[in-house]
Amino acid sequence: MDSKNLTLSTLASMEDYDPNSMPVEQARQLIKQFLSPVTETETIKIQDAFHRTLAADVLSPMNVPPHDYSSMDGYAVRADDLTGSSNKLKKIGSSFAGHAFAGKVGAGECVRIMTGATIPDGSDSVVMQEQVKVDGDNIEFSAACKCGQNIRLLGEDIQKGAVVLSQGQRINAAEMGLLASLGFAEITVFRKLKIAIFSTGDELIQPGKSLASGQIYDSNRFTLIGLLTELGAEILDMGNIRDDKNAVRAALLKASSQADVIITSGGVSVGDADYIKELLDEVGEVVFWKLAMKPGRPLAYGKVGKCHFFGLPGNPVAVMVTFLQFVRNALWELMGQHPKPAFSFQAICTTPIKKAAGRTEFQRGILTQGDDGLWTVQTTGEQGSGILSSMSRANCFIVLPMEQGNVEKGSVVQIQLF
Ligand code: AMP
Ligand code: MG
Repeated sequence: MDSKNLTLSTLASMEDYDPNSMPVEQARQLIKQFLSPVTETETIKIQDAFHRTLAADVLSPMNVPPHDYSSMDGYAVRADDLTGSSNKLKKIGSSFAGHAFAGKVGAGECVRIMTGATIPDGSDSVVMQEQVKVDGDNIEFSAACKCGQNIRLLGEDIQKGAVVLSQGQRINAAEMGLLASLGFAEITVFRKLKIAIFSTGDELIQPGKSLASGQIYDSNRFTLIGLLTELGAEILDMGNIRDDKNAVRAALLKASSQADVIITSGGVSVGDADYIKELLDEVGEVVFWKLAMKPGRPLAYGKVGKCHFFGLPGNPVAVMVTFLQFVRNALWELMGQHPKPAFSFQAICTTPIKKAAGRTEFQRGILTQGDDGLWTVQTTGEQGSGILSSMSRANCFIVLPMEQGNVEKGSVVQIQLF
């Protein structure tokens, strides 16, 4: 596939292009071809930078540590003074973290030193306080001393000018601390992605109200709010839109004029009230609308103008599965990050699983460690795609590939941790 020149019109001519039952990996690759990351940047305080994306490489403006310092509470000495089996040195002062010793350590002398304190001039090693006998200012050393011991050297962690963080890196807690340790109060990041969300369905009612016959609570929008908040996106919550073609069309157009991405749930199957695919064809372009997977078979991806569109299924489990399997990486990429495929590994499955070949399945699993230290996985039980509690009880997906049939108890399966 030529990614550079891929357009929707050339898609249709691709031999293996089946928007009606697209394999999972092909769908991922296809989405990737259409993503162009945000380029606008803003400068923000580092305390506000959690889960934002670095817009440029960060070079260290300084050496870390910025001076030689002690990694122990003890005594700063000259190693040459401690070559005998027992040596007495005179304590001539103290060096505390933030309060360096101003003098110089001469032959036969030592300085009391605390963890984090600057190494006094003249000294070259630190002996732990547990290894000395103290008698006033007379300090007796009996242990051997290796020159340079217990000292962290200037620039040992990071050299001035070194690239410490790269463009596109997500800022987590460690990165916030690292930026602070280099003296940065502010950092330049890509602007937040604006994501419009709405649910569709006449049966949906908002939590807090009482249910009338035939109604259910709109849960998908709240799942999405959680998932998007975690990503650090700006959410434009458009509520629930009724199953009315004009209302859904108006919502799509409004969302596309304000957001970078539209994410909806429901209305993508082929029922009489499912307008999403038809409307997307009308006001935008559809890349695919059905995947060879379970749950999440109806998943529409396309564009409305410049805006990316993800039409997630209505079933609550399918919403989470399709978001985690397709949408999240796409959003990270649009945010300017370089996401990797989900981390996965193998485990023994302790429950048999019924599975038809021909589609990828993402069963909800519970991974546990046995007394023998080995990890095994079991399904959460009934895998109906409306059973949202299964997502809450599970801690991983059991990923069953397309060609896989039934899984026997005791087989090795592929796991993706949440
Ligand atoms: P649909 O694709 O619109 O036919 O929806 C498939 C199933 O998901 C139906 O049982 C819907 O009632 C249900 N559903 C759709 N949207 C939501 C939502 N926002 N919250 C909870 N369930 C939903
Ligand atoms: Mg519906």
